[in-house]
Amino acid sequence: MATSQERINLIVPFAQKDKAKALGAKWDGNSKCWWIPANVDTAPFARWRPAQNNEQPLYQDLVPINREELLEHRTSDLLEVVFVPWTCWKCQQTTLAFHGSIERAICATHLFYQPRVLEELERIRKELELARFGCIKPRFSRTVGSAYVSQGCRHCDALIGEFPLSEDFSEVLSTLDLSTYRCCRVLDWSLLLGQQ
Ligand SMILES: [Zn+2]
Repeated sequence: MATSQERINLIVPFAQKDKAKALGAKWDGNSKCWWIPANVDTAPFARWRPAQNNEQPLYQDLVPINREELLEHRTSDLLEVVFVPWTCWKCQQTTLAFHGSIERAICATHLFYQPRVLEELERIRKELELARFGCIKPRFSRTVGSAYVSQGCRHCDALIGEFPLSEDFSEVLSTLDLSTYRCCRVLDWSLLLGQQ
């Protein structure tokens, strides 16, 4: 039996709370989350546990769209990617979020669900010597009432926004002078589409 001496917080969708409770999870009204008490078998809670290792983005959880679909949605050869610092609503620490767009105003969410795009973002992040941005994976949003592919806080894994970011960050972006902003890159789609 795998147990932990430390408290383990869980991300439990509202609809599954009774199941988590039946398995022994406890509710913390202050931090509004379920958790596994010490000496309780942690195995049955695996699907609700936040990523243990933020160094490993969950590429495999993203469903890549096919090449034809990608080309169909392409309206420009250039892809603008911007990393923005963001204060986590939960732990108040600074984390990094990613915003991407083609032709600035158009948010092309599903274009980014490509392993090669994600790998490229990771490469850029390292090149810019930025601290890690949170793991990209589906997270449950109580506001929305369902799970969606999101970015999270690199410290506490709290959901900070969809992947890539759009609405919430338009305001942040509008205050940045992108011509001088360091954490911005323009990519060429042909690079991301590969040599096929
Ligand atoms: Zn946080």
